[in-house]
Amino acid sequence: MIAASPLSDHPERWQSVLAEAVTDPAELIALLGLDPGLLAPARRAAARFGLKVPRGFVARMRRGDPGDPLLRQVLPLGAELDEAPGFVTDPVGDLPSETAPGLLHKYQGRALLVTTGACGVHCRYCFRREYPYADHGAGGGRWREAVAAIAADPSIHEAILSGGDPLSLGNARLAALVEALEAVPHLRRLRIHTRQPIVLPERVDEGLLALLGRTRLATVVVVHANHAAEIDGTVASALAALSGRGAMLLNQGVLLAGVNDSVEALADLSERLAQARVLPYYLHLLDRVRGAAHFEVPETVAVALVDELRRRLPGYLVPRLVREEPGAGSKTPVA
Ligand SMILES: *Cc1c(COP(=O)(O)O)cnc(C)c1O
Ligand code: SF4
Repeated sequence: MIAASPLSDHPERWQSVLAEAVTDPAELIALLGLDPGLLAPARRAAARFGLKVPRGFVARMRRGDPGDPLLRQVLPLGAELDEAPGFVTDPVGDLPSETAPGLLHKYQGRALLVTTGACGVHCRYCFRREYPYADHGAGGGRWREAVAAIAADPSIHEAILSGGDPLSLGNARLAALVEALEAVPHLRRLRIHTRQPIVLPERVDEGLLALLGRTRLATVVVVHANHAAEIDGTVASALAALSGRGAMLLNQGVLLAGVNDSVEALADLSERLAQARVLPYYLHLLDRVRGAAHFEVPETVAVALVDELRRRLPGYLVPRLVREEPGAGSKTPVA
């Protein structure tokens, strides 16, 4: 949630839904009828990176199943505290590419704005789970400096709003930011990297749709779903509303052990996305962030899975398997 300030919005309905998110591991375990033995390790792991999951997302999980693919993405586990060589706090080399507060300019033509540290959900494998948002974000009023840096660089044609989740900002703040970007003549596209339409479909409200409907920038919304069960009817409606306003919809997922590391799970995800008019864009190999080693899928397995997907699905429903390498000029294809 955003702290109240003269700039902050009137409370929006989605904000009260988000305020009701489950943050206590004991409550999550009770809601799903899980083994109480999970609680002590969950509390220890949550002390490093808190639990947060909206109730609507919990409702899509199977009761009594500790292996549920949605649950695995959010339930803190003792395994997160195991030391694993090579798993570090800034695995993708974000900080060296910061060119203004919260502005990451790694790739040609595109610059990414870390708008806020807040998310609608805490994914245990998040590569920014330890990102120092307070010192390296464009939160508060600091995004103005980032926009000034974009305005000063005519090679940038696309602004990517990221975070955290940029849709954690209320509509008034978001509108102020988008209007500032629209005023930069060399910007052509606005891209929004967000998991909120998936975990909190209430976020796709009239205010947001109006904002997207009136911008001169070509708009691309990149959502983040890893499993078909994440996309229920409410999510599909939110996605339909976004495409109804002319946004191009893409999905990026992460290949996660125990969540979607099977051909069936990945094929079902692509099929479900297609029904919601979303193209699978990237399937990321796990970023090696501290605490996430138990999610890693070996590269050879990843390549074999995507090869098999290619046999089963139309080419446009096969996501590009990529890895993020510090210092590289683009995401690195894995073949
Ligand atoms: C991933 C990323 C982008 C976007 O890359 P695309 O290949 O265009 O999707 C841009 N900037 C940063 C810093 C990124 O990490
Ligand atoms: S929604 Fe994205 S940024 Fe937020 S915790 Fe999940 S992976 Fe990280």
